[in-house]
Amino acid sequence: MAQQPRNYKMMIGGEFVTAASGKTREIRDPGNGHVVAIVPEGGKEDIDAAVGKARQAFDHGPWKQTSALDRGKLLFRIADGIRANAAKLAELEVLSCGKPLAEAEYDIADAANCFEFYGGMATKIHGETMQVPANSLSFVVREPIGVCGQIVPWNYPLLMSSWKLAPALAAGNTCVLKPSELTPLTALELASILVEAGVPSGVVNIVTGPGPGCGDALSAHPQVDKIAFTGGTATGRHVMNAAAGNLKKVSLELGGKNPNIVFADADFEAAVDGALFGAFANQGEVCSAGSRLLVDRKIHKKFVEAMVKKIPNIKVGHGMTPGVKMGPVVSRLHLEKIEGYVASGIAEGAKLVCGGKRPSDKSLAGGNFIEPTIFDDVTPSMKIAREEIFGPVLAVIPFDTEEEAIQIANDTEYGLAAGVWSRDINRALRVVRELRCGITWINTYHPTFNEMPWGGYKQSGTGRELGLYGIEEYLETKQVNINLDEAPIAWY
Ligand code: NDP
Repeated sequence: MAQQPRNYKMMIGGEFVTAASGKTREIRDPGNGHVVAIVPEGGKEDIDAAVGKARQAFDHGPWKQTSALDRGKLLFRIADGIRANAAKLAELEVLSCGKPLAEAEYDIADAANCFEFYGGMATKIHGETMQVPANSLSFVVREPIGVCGQIVPWNYPLLMSSWKLAPALAAGNTCVLKPSELTPLTALELASILVEAGVPSGVVNIVTGPGPGCGDALSAHPQVDKIAFTGGTATGRHVMNAAAGNLKKVSLELGGKNPNIVFADADFEAAVDGALFGAFANQGEVCSAGSRLLVDRKIHKKFVEAMVKKIPNIKVGHGMTPGVKMGPVVSRLHLEKIEGYVASGIAEGAKLVCGGKRPSDKSLAGGNFIEPTIFDDVTPSMKIAREEIFGPVLAVIPFDTEEEAIQIANDTEYGLAAGVWSRDINRALRVVRELRCGITWINTYHPTFNEMPWGGYKQSGTGRELGLYGIEEYLETKQVNINLDEAPIAWY
């Protein structure tokens, strides 16, 4: 485990620099409160400098002449660089956002795979020729959008950065990435990996700093052509408003209050397991967490009992401690927010069947720990059933019919993800067809593939990341029409 806080610099125009203001921020281990690193606290001035470098690199740098093949090879080298540094990156992820090491290792591997996936796609970007009247030859070409501002949250710091940088670079854009002020370390390590892989200076710039001051300066910047944001829905709305100044293109991956629906005919053990994993993986700090568990009343009591029986298997502790399955939540402020939701669940009459408090183990007192928490007999109108808690709190809602399950599932402003558990495939597909959300799982929860589009309906966002759809968000579409007639138009 890292002992001495390391000083990091951010990367602007290929240089590793401090903040223009000279300000710094301590990054603390959410598992014990220790300072693990010091990073620059950037602001508007730094964003202006980074956007200037990205603009220059896009408009005048060698990047424009870099072939798709070479961009693809560059992305493969970045993937190799991430793999070569995987152990360090995974540890830094644990020490800044708290997740158990095994989960961090999985994220780092996935981040490398993402660069490789889009490395392969760089050479597959193509236009098309359209059938138009015979006197014209008309075709469509795809071009990069330009300078992309990219803002990522604290729950999957390197993975979310990869989901944004990899397609943007494959398509030939330049980028200014702003990680969360709480978890910028793996993005800053990635800066060195990018340089080593041969990313030309100015093509990727990484600025650390707070949302207000740094993130909003990026969202509003008139020289930025596109903003890609992952974070909370309220912040997403703010980003969209800020982006309206120059009508930059906007893609938003936002929050969710996702239903995980268990029918009585489901494989009982698999569904119990999937319900717990859906709710508690990554401490429940997952936009797609199955935080509303809708259970068929025929098996409801037995199902809740079976979940509670398995809760002791979810060992809570520091993410670097072997065997730990749930780490601390990201900050003390966030812990207190989660505790506020627990209090509201109790006040509104939900039945607390386990958890709800900080662990009694004194060795964990310095960290932001809370026990995995299950509320039973939740009604759809309760606050814990409506608002995204973004922590390890599961709301169990019983239902009587398929129609009722669908109605409750869709009764939310969000539309990110949902799970359906049933051995009756007709029923599962029937229900999936009715769900108003962008990501669905049948008889599983959470698997995410670089090949498949990620994003939400309704207030869970706009646009898609990953897969073929993800690169579309980083491409412009231009039509070219060639007149094959010799004669003038002769209109006047
Ligand atoms: P926030 O919305 O608070 O922050 C997300 C990012 O936006 C951070 O980098 C943050 O910076 C920045 N930010 C904050 N305020 C502004 C602002 N005014 N202008 C521009 N940028 C700003 O979300 P969290 O970091 O708390 O992440 C949790 C949220 O992210 C949850 O709602 C979750 O559902 C969502 N999420 C969605 C995913 C999806 O794919 N749909 C995936 C992962 C998370 P800073 O932290 O430095 O303040």
